[in-house]
Order: sequence, then structure tokens, then C-alpha cells
Amino acid sequence: MAEKNYDIVIVGGGPGGITAGLYGARANREVVMIEKYLPGGQIANTEEVEDYPGFEHISGAELAMKMSEHAQKFGLEVVSDEVAEVYTDGADRMVSTASGDLYRAKAVILATGGSPNKLSVPGEEEFTGKGVSYCAICDGAFFKDEIIAVVGGGDAAVEEAIFLTKFGRKVIVIHRRDKLRAQKIIQERAFKNPKIEFIWDSVVESVNGDDKVRSLGLKNVKTGEKSSLEAGAVFVFIGFVPNSNLVREPLEKDAGGYILTDDRMETSIKGIYACGDVRSQLVRQITNAVGDGTTAAVAAEKYIEEMEA
Ligand code: NAP
Repeated sequence: MAEKNYDIVIVGGGPGGITAGLYGARANREVVMIEKYLPGGQIANTEEVEDYPGFEHISGAELAMKMSEHAQKFGLEVVSDEVAEVYTDGADRMVSTASGDLYRAKAVILATGGSPNKLSVPGEEEFTGKGVSYCAICDGAFFKDEIIAVVGGGDAAVEEAIFLTKFGRKVIVIHRRDKLRAQKIIQERAFKNPKIEFIWDSVVESVNGDDKVRSLGLKNVKTGEKSSLEAGAVFVFIGFVPNSNLVREPLEKDAGGYILTDDRMETSIKGIYACGDVRSQLVRQITNAVGDGTTAAVAAEKYIEEMEA
């Protein structure tokens, strides 16, 4: 097991993590960011970003690449590995990885985001990769001219439903209430799109098929009526669960499992910070993940400075 020493280890490479890396590296600290996939986090799988100031339209993958290259230019080191555990060892913060490396740091910034929620209904697991998907940009093109179902009523569901109209002959959004949660501007775009239909007050009870998805079992939550919907694919966007369980010692979290921090992004453990979607907060946007990452890195730098004084 190789032990490596850094000032700051960042766990997770989404916009929050990358920005923390940029600020940490610009403060002349030895900073490494560990990400199991490519840098970018959720935005790497987002077709288009149009709410990041300065970029009216930019693909998520391009924005992720630009952010990551920018931070690396200032000295951020990026490692492709999966973090297994974060723990404390006296004044040091330790990060172990799946490949067997051990990082010793003065501060750790958790930028681990979240993973998609599952429907938890019969057929979902069996047909994952055969019509059940959690990523429109990854899998949408497989369902050209088919009827595509989208579950959820938030920003992700409605935005991805619009994107999926590029492929499907029809996109049907199934939402458990009769009002969308998505931002008004996104809703209006969906309502205007002739390829999008809505099924309100309904939940998916089963995913059915043979070698792939063929239909969904639905239930109207108001009337109790059950029905079957023909669909060749179902994309699930019903929120996500925070990836907040990497730290060995107990961390304070809210009821949803999101990590509680103070206004310096410090968690209940000194020297461990959290930023972006994994943190308990009202808004989950690229812009505030970037702000969190900035604060976390500057606070970590001050913490290290005080330690070294
Ligand atoms: P979200 O805002 O939490 O919305 C989840 C949606 O799924 C809600 O409509 C919810 O219904 C529904 N839902 C939850 N559990 C369900 C279940 N078991 N069965 C059926 N439906 C269920 O999640 P999100 O859309 O993934 O967005 C996550 C965060 O990222 C949000 O803060 C969002 O603003 C942000 N985001 C922003 C953008 C953007 O600004 N362009 C794009 C994507 C995501 P209810 O409405 O009834 O609760």
C-alpha cells in the first residue's frame, strides 16, 4: 500500500470538487482530487447546461472538461480511483482507495454528490441496461422512434424528457402529482413540445418486458386505477441519495442523509469539509456547488495555515 502526502485531498470530481481544487492549487498547496469516473460528476452526463453564467449554451461534457483543465493548469492533480474510506489519524485526515492507495492529508474536502434514486419496483433491476436507465445522454440514442417513458417531475426529469424527444417518437412523463416541481422556464418548454405527453398523479408499479422493456404497470394514486403503458424504455429521474457514507467517524447529517456544514463548509469533524450536492442546502445547482467549493478550499487553506503556525 503506497502512502502519499498532500495538503488537501478532494473526494469527488464534480464542479464543487474541481473548483475546490482550483482554489487549493492557486494557494500553492499540494492538492489531489480523486474521482472514480471522468471529472465532471453529474454535468458530464448532461446534454446542455444553460444556467452557468458566461455560457448561454454549453454541453455538460465540455464545461466539465474546461473546468478540469483549468484547475489542472494551476497544479491540481487528478487521480482516477474510487475512495473507500475517509478517517482521522490524530491531526491528519486519511483517505484510502479501492486500488489500495492511502492518502495522508491535512484537510479533506468531500465533493461526492449523490447517486440516482431507484423506483424499487419489480422489473427495474432486471431491465436496467435493457430499457431502464438513469442517464438520458448515455442511453437515449438506443431508443430511436420508440415510446420513451420518463419518471419524475423535477428539473432533471423535465429537462431530460425534452432531450429525449430527439430520439423517441413520443416521450411520456409520469409524475406522482398533478404539478411539476421543475423550474417554470423548463416546464413551459416541455408543455410546448408536441412530442411530450404527461400522465399525472401516477406511479410506476412494475417494469415489464422480454429481452427488453415493453411496458410499464402504472397506478393512479388518486383513483387507485391500474393500467399498462406501452414503452420501449423508462428513464428514472426521481432525485438522488447523497453519497455521504465514506467517513468512518460519525458526521452530522440532516434527515435526508445530506452532510451538515457551517458557513465555512466545515463538517462536524475538524479538517473535513463538504461541498456541492452532498451538503445539506436548499439549492443544488452547478453555480452553488462552485461557490461551496471555493469556500471549502479557502477555509481548508486557513485551517492548514493555523495548524502550521
Ligand atoms: P428533485 O428536484 O428532488 O425531483 C425529484 C422528482 O421526482 C420530484 O418531482 C418528485 O416528486 C419525484 N419523485 C421522488 N421520489 C419519487 C418516487 N419514489 N416515485 C415517483 N416520483 C418520485 O430531483 P432532480 O430533478 O433529480 O434534481 C435534483 C437537484 O438537481 C435539484 O435541486 C434540481 O434543481 C437540480 N437540477 C437542476 C437542473 C437545472 O437547473 N437545469 C437540472 C437538473 C437537476 P414530487 O415533486 O412529488 O416530490
